[in-house]
Amino acid sequence: MLLTISLKGKNTQDLGYLLHKNPYRAQCFDLNFGKVYVFYPEVGDEKTTAALLLDINPVDLARGKVGSEKDGLFDYVNDRPYVCSSFMSTAIVRVFGTAVSGKCAKRQELADSKLDLEASISMLPCMGDIEFVKEIFEPLGYEVYTKSYVLDECFPEWGQSPYINLTIKGKVKLSELLNHLYVLIPMFDRQKHYYVGSDEIEKLIKHGEGWLSTHPCRNKIIRRYFSVCKSYANEAIKIISENELQYEAEQNTDFEKAGENTESKKPLNKRRLDTVLEKILESGSNRVIDMGCGDGKLTKMLLDEKSISKIAAFDVSVQALKRTAERLRLDTLSDVKRKKVDLFLSSLMYLDDRFKGYDCACIIEVIEHLDLNRLRTFENVVFGYAMPKTVIVTTPNIEYNKYYGISEEQLRHNDHRFEWTRNEFDNWCRNVCGKFGYTVKTDGIGDFNESFGSPTQIGVFTKCV
Ligand code: SAH
Repeated sequence: MLLTISLKGKNTQDLGYLLHKNPYRAQCFDLNFGKVYVFYPEVGDEKTTAALLLDINPVDLARGKVGSEKDGLFDYVNDRPYVCSSFMSTAIVRVFGTAVSGKCAKRQELADSKLDLEASISMLPCMGDIEFVKEIFEPLGYEVYTKSYVLDECFPEWGQSPYINLTIKGKVKLSELLNHLYVLIPMFDRQKHYYVGSDEIEKLIKHGEGWLSTHPCRNKIIRRYFSVCKSYANEAIKIISENELQYEAEQNTDFEKAGENTESKKPLNKRRLDTVLEKILESGSNRVIDMGCGDGKLTKMLLDEKSISKIAAFDVSVQALKRTAERLRLDTLSDVKRKKVDLFLSSLMYLDDRFKGYDCACIIEVIEHLDLNRLRTFENVVFGYAMPKTVIVTTPNIEYNKYYGISEEQLRHNDHRFEWTRNEFDNWCRNVCGKFGYTVKTDGIGDFNESFGSPTQIGVFTKCV
């Protein structure tokens, strides 16, 4: 299996910096399915080409050394060593990981620029469907060149081989090219070398950021990427199509800002987070997880709090996580503080084992972004699976919308799927307590109005012992 990447233009040896691989030294890496070689068949001022060659051991595969527990995933006679498949994606991230993430300490401006790049893939298993290959790569701005083969020249009636050689050319950033290949190569092949788990959704969101949500074949790509795991595909489609919207999610909606209270000068969002922090400290929690952390305002407050020893924060939106990382200044934090916080991409819809082991989980202004029919999954994940001693949930109080002058058909934010009255929130809280063995105290946050209550509702749940 061979992938070559060429840079054309001026000073093209800089490809070595971009890939973090010296053009004058061939390198070999051991991966669990075989060896990966990186070398440069061509180094020049106007064109430099890097090659990534995978040497897979078919016997290891058949014996189940890779990815399976007992028997091998593959028979002794298999096409894996010869076709471009998910092994190639794994190799790309292992060997060119920094380039995939778009970082290049020595030539950052180059990593951020669109360059004249070309990638060639040998033996792409696409069932000979060249039109489909074009449908996938052309919308991303590539020119597509393919070469097909007859299966056997002696037997023309056998027709064309299902494998093709593919070359794509375009003006793209190197990280874009690598992320496109990471997602799209295994999408052509239906056989994945590893068990598809829910962390695959995360990987797809990460590598598909900025292009997959708007690709005309988005759903087809996602379905094929997950192959037989249809539920993961459906979940990923939902998250990826909503992602753009979600990261726009504002902590203080325009209505809340406009109706900002006279009694207190503090914005509602600040009062909300101060109240949440107060409740966390009252509960005596040391380890706290901020679920759906948005741009990390609460996470930052927790980081500065001495009595909190461990913080995890996650969100389903890559953009939100980037903003959290910036707010926390993750790059420049002292070692002690850096170790205190774990920031990761995940979803409240998964049973993710990283959610376990915390004293307190905060879900602040998040549930109203979930479809009502997914609340049950959310409850199972937080109260049935993560099961922290304390859970703090906040959500808008729809009754207060009248005070903001919002009509009955409207909600506070475009992405809100529902908003509840105080009664509805109370009922939901009590129902959750009954199902999962918690007690709850509900209250309001923000200026109190006799008829409508307060703008935000809070529920502090405590696990029964
Ligand atoms: N808790 C933050 C952000 C609230 S905005 C704060 O109070 O400031 C709502 C956030 O929920 C968004 O960042 C959105 O991306 C996130 N979100 C929506 N659905 C999610 C899901 N299924 N899993 C995790 N986060 C989700």
